[in-house]
Amino acid sequence: MPGAESSPRSAVAVADELSRLLFHDRRLAAGYSVERVECSRMFEITLGDGTRRFTVWLEPAIAGGPSYRATRLFLVGHEGDLPDGGRLALDALVDRLRARERTIPELTYARFFLETSGPRYHPAMPPLEWLAVLAGLRPACRQVVSRAILPTAQSLARDLGLTVLAQPVADERFQARLEGDTLLFVAQSPAQAQTVAETDLVLLPGTSDERARETVRAQGEALGYPACCIERFQAHHTEPNDALRRLALAATPPGRFEPLLNNLDFRWSLVSHFVCRYDCGPSLAYARALHAQVRARSPAIAKAIERFLVLTTERLFTLEG
Ligand SMILES: [Zn+2]
Repeated sequence: MPGAESSPRSAVAVADELSRLLFHDRRLAAGYSVERVECSRMFEITLGDGTRRFTVWLEPAIAGGPSYRATRLFLVGHEGDLPDGGRLALDALVDRLRARERTIPELTYARFFLETSGPRYHPAMPPLEWLAVLAGLRPACRQVVSRAILPTAQSLARDLGLTVLAQPVADERFQARLEGDTLLFVAQSPAQAQTVAETDLVLLPGTSDERARETVRAQGEALGYPACCIERFQAHHTEPNDALRRLALAATPPGRFEPLLNNLDFRWSLVSHFVCRYDCGPSLAYARALHAQVRARSPAIAKAIERFLVLTTERLFTLEG
């Protein structure tokens, strides 16, 4: 079954939207203006006056921690020493945030929070699927990552007492589609990691339908997905992801949609599989249990995920194609 569709594009979209809302007038003070806004590992704003420049970072206020200033929604800090006039520019930026932060839609803020707060490969909040394995909610999980993150991910998995197996994505076409070059199998035991790795066969053109369906079932079972969802996926595994989501929507009785099963964006969804229906009992039990695990580690992240799943539900209903 497909893993997460990681998408740095959404971080760009959040940065763009915040930039539009907060800095449509880029001038600040002391000749400085906002030169660039980006959200990669953290949210960074470059301020410059044509010759000097410095970097300001924003984090969600709810995350807590040291900062230069805090507004209702943001912690604001800067990297290195401030150049001449930098403090005036920074204070003007803080004033700007205070004046305009109420115009930020709740969904944008939830996404900003998720992009900057995790899941990173951080001991306080490992990837959600790892929490599920740690809590015994499933035997193993599978992720696609870039080689650059591999040492960090492997050492965190070991610190948590998890087994991790990495293997390169051999096929370049798959690398491009998956936006990563390495498959990571994380499990409670070496045997479980090995089992899931062995089921991860790339289904090359020419694979018989029967063989493909067997592989899909073996992988779904090794990853601990519900039998009802595996069966549904087996029958439709060649369809595009959005088609699978539409099928699940069509199978969901009116009024029974469960937002905790929203799997439109696998980076932030609680379930990491294609559900058979959006009221699937075993999937919902898993999603609730995992949500409780997240909440135990960080109520703020649990809340942001829940809001994100609720607020993007409408988008799931309007999938096209
Ligand atoms: Zn199901």
